[in-house]
Amino acid sequence: MKRFTSIGAVASGLLLMSAAAWLVAAQQSTPDIVLSNGKIITVDERFSIAQAIAIKGDRIVAVGSNSEIVPLAGSNTRRIDLRGRAVIPGLIDNHMHLLRAGATWKWEVRWDGVGFRKAALDLLRARVKKTSHGEWVYNLGGWTLDQFADDKRPFSREELDEIAPDNPVLLQASYYETYLNTRGLQALGLDGKAAANPWLVRDANGRPTGRIEEAGVREVAAKLPVAPAGEIEGSTVAMIRELNRAGLTTFGSAGCEPELLPIYRRLADQDKLTVRVFCINGVGTGTSPDQVARALPQIAQLKVFQGTNYIDNIFFGESVYGPLHDPMFLVKSTPRPDQLALWRQIITEIAKARLPLHVHAELEDTIDGFLDQIEAVNKEYPIKNLRWVLAHVNRLQPRHLARMRELGMYAAVNPWAVINGGINHRVFGESAFDMAPLSTIQNSGITWGFGSDGSRANQILPFTTLWWAVTGKMVGGTRVLRQTISREDALIAHTRKNAYLVFQENNLGSIQPGKLADLLVLDRDYLTIPADQIKDIQTVMTIVGGKIAYDSETR
Ligand SMILES: [Zn+2]
Repeated sequence: MKRFTSIGAVASGLLLMSAAAWLVAAQQSTPDIVLSNGKIITVDERFSIAQAIAIKGDRIVAVGSNSEIVPLAGSNTRRIDLRGRAVIPGLIDNHMHLLRAGATWKWEVRWDGVGFRKAALDLLRARVKKTSHGEWVYNLGGWTLDQFADDKRPFSREELDEIAPDNPVLLQASYYETYLNTRGLQALGLDGKAAANPWLVRDANGRPTGRIEEAGVREVAAKLPVAPAGEIEGSTVAMIRELNRAGLTTFGSAGCEPELLPIYRRLADQDKLTVRVFCINGVGTGTSPDQVARALPQIAQLKVFQGTNYIDNIFFGESVYGPLHDPMFLVKSTPRPDQLALWRQIITEIAKARLPLHVHAELEDTIDGFLDQIEAVNKEYPIKNLRWVLAHVNRLQPRHLARMRELGMYAAVNPWAVINGGINHRVFGESAFDMAPLSTIQNSGITWGFGSDGSRANQILPFTTLWWAVTGKMVGGTRVLRQTISREDALIAHTRKNAYLVFQENNLGSIQPGKLADLLVLDRDYLTIPADQIKDIQTVMTIVGGKIAYDSETR
């Protein structure tokens, strides 16, 4: 009855409108952008396909056929003819070390998705040419030697000297090993007999080969000069543009460093931020019982969900207690009861404060230990509805999934194998074919999504991740995974399910009326191209919040 009355009231109001008012009302409801004549892969619950989209302000207002949507356009509507191209929702990475990556991006020679050693060295040569004598040329992960289809040989000191005789060079392969040239060794004080580091590899004559083993990778990287503060914003902006071009529009950001977050806030204030940043932040619980005791009272102070749909804090994470943070290339962990007791103290405070948790969890025994603690805490402080997430989970087992489902938990799958698959096979043997156990996770019915854990532990290109999930191949083409999934399920895990994992399911993850207009126009159809081409998909246009953030035609 009430509804009937209000419609009547609106109708009589319209009768009184002047012609000018009609025009204003029509313009207000007219879409700003209409994209038509496409294949809109909406990724809604029914995975429906449409032809056209209408956008008003930062939201999608209508999705449907050409004949339903095109007539909505007015004289001020920007019309985009998709000419049959595929459109998908903006891709969401549920776990990237985003801010840290921006702080070095401009100076790094990135090898994300580069499948040939020769191509990688060409990029290195080009960078050396552009860099002044004496300045560092480097990258900090995102690649491994196993991704080079033409030649997987380690880089030799001599080879790097030939390319860069006048610049120190540091090339970090994931967190697994690092290669330095002579200038690099000298700059870091590693080229003498005095440097007695066990991780510094020497030849038969005792001369450093330039290779640094796993144990020294972080220590050596930490010695690189810090980028000038005044240039970090420019580096961040350059990275964001590359991320938009790669199809990424939203991130679960592992660690939103307080010294770097203001850059993103500034961009947001100026209406220039074209990625959404949902922070996963801890309070520094440290590595000892004393540090934990000091940190416990701070946990309840952590504030979540007070930001915008561009920047917000959403999770406690990713590390709960340092000693139980599994390293990348360890086969088996042995979490001690006293360590797990401390871990439980911390998560008790997190549950009491009703905070969402996103925790680094990798090895089988660690995950068992964590689930023991969570089940115990859950009895006193229920965690259902808090969206507690285990992240990385490359060694997750069916027994873990059953317990997680019971607890109402989720999985952020961060597949290190996309670049580290070769190393995994050497370290973990046959079982590396199940890292990550994608089809087991998919078939468990648990809500899960994809993140990269880039930019160091992994590459960051989402279509490379999707290609890996569908074909089982790591960068360079070696088959490393047997638990592949369908391209539909993979896409859902990089969009709609991830929207849930960043608490944005009402705003993001699918192309539906009412959601934020974050979407990608692709150069080919993700659903029908040969699977091996998925990694080669290029974004033609990236729209974030109704604004064109990247357009290949206006580069
Ligand atoms: Zn982690």
